[in-house]
Amino acid sequence: MSEVNPFKMAQAQFDQVAEQMELEQSARDMLRWPLREFRFQLPVRMDDGSMKVFFGFRVQHNDARGPAKGGIRFAANETLDTVRALATWMTWKCAVADIPLGGGKGGVIVDPSTLSTSEKERLCREWIDAVWKNLGPRNDVPAPDVGTTPQMMGWMMDEYSKLVGEYTPGVITGKPVGGGGSLGRTVATGFGVIVTVREAMKHLGMESRGKTASIQGFGNVAQYAAINFIEMLGGRVLSVSCWDREDRVSYTFTKEDGIDPHFLQKITDQYGTIDKEAAKNAGYIIEDGDAWLSKDVDVLIPAAIEGIITDETVENISSHVKILAEGANGPTTPEADAVLKERGVFLIPDFLCNAGGVTCSYFEQVQNDMNYYWSEEEVLSKLDDKMTNAFKGVLDTSLKHNNLYMRDAAYWVAIKRVEKAMRLRGWI
Ligand code: NAD
Repeated sequence: MSEVNPFKMAQAQFDQVAEQMELEQSARDMLRWPLREFRFQLPVRMDDGSMKVFFGFRVQHNDARGPAKGGIRFAANETLDTVRALATWMTWKCAVADIPLGGGKGGVIVDPSTLSTSEKERLCREWIDAVWKNLGPRNDVPAPDVGTTPQMMGWMMDEYSKLVGEYTPGVITGKPVGGGGSLGRTVATGFGVIVTVREAMKHLGMESRGKTASIQGFGNVAQYAAINFIEMLGGRVLSVSCWDREDRVSYTFTKEDGIDPHFLQKITDQYGTIDKEAAKNAGYIIEDGDAWLSKDVDVLIPAAIEGIITDETVENISSHVKILAEGANGPTTPEADAVLKERGVFLIPDFLCNAGGVTCSYFEQVQNDMNYYWSEEEVLSKLDDKMTNAFKGVLDTSLKHNNLYMRDAAYWVAIKRVEKAMRLRGWI
């Protein structure tokens, strides 16, 4: 099977909606490709005294609405096309959340687990040295992603501050709390997922109390989606799942009267792997990794990996399911989308559903700029407003265009906003 090129996929998704909305050719030309791309070499002194050269990237897809925004991935299989695709999707995510930022993404081809802490620190500082002139709170603001951590953001912010000669926390987000980070960032994405579920239920006329959910994953997004589904909506989460790093398979953990996410957090490691024995002793039923998808629940929340709802697995989704909330990025293939559309499942598309993370990153930048920090309640209340408005904007567009599929409506809203900003700036 040939590998899917993510950038070709991002371009194809854009082309399809651009056609539907009869977007002007000049806007299409601008948005099919990134504005700027940087590729650089990163020579790093290793602990044994040798020099090793890594390849790094930064792509700024579009900054018409504000500084480019997006994470830095450290991954062995990183490619320029992956970074281009992720930067493009960040443009749409920031636009749909209506935060004044554009889309960017960065990366290094490296398996970070092969580096010592000091080697990681030197690589992070080198990455900033290579590209700092093109970054900045008014140009481009990176953040953590796969393989990078809040500590690494702290080193990168420090390196940038040294180069420009002043403390500049707003150059990068996802920093540790106490080192310029924002309260609420840990819970933000899962919290935002459930705000969109709450709004979807209102739209569908569903009473949220007592409704059930099944979730794929039990990492950052899934944990706080589970907690908020129970605490914000009064619902019950029947199943969560995880990848077991020892057995190298995934498992589903089920409790018919509802899981206790706070208990499960205590028996879950930092990679989101749940301790099977401890769960079994607490009365959880352990099933195979796909079982979460076929539960008779009201809401399904894939919050682990991409590409798991396919033309084959989509058939396992129960007819009871009313809402599919994409906590993960890209969990549904275009073939499965067609089936969901036909079945009338209400979809909350990924770049709307999981925009709580980047919105909280934006709040971090705002607090850095003011040098004044908000309480967690304040952060979450502002986040609730932003996510609710983002949802409503997409829903209105869907309703206005004859119940347009929510994914297409989200693209429509995002592209329109970026197009408008480019027009106002005289780019098209
Ligand atoms: P994470 O690494 O904290 O957790 C991932 C979870 O998925 C873990 O529980 C892991 O065991 C599980 N998992 C991995 N492979 C699996 C498999 N094959 N079957 C079942 N479970 C599996 O990651 P996260 O930060 O929670 O991110 C999850 C998804 O959400 C990703 O697609 C990510 O890109 C997206 N996302 C995350 C954020 C954020 O703020 N963390 C923001 C936007 C989007």
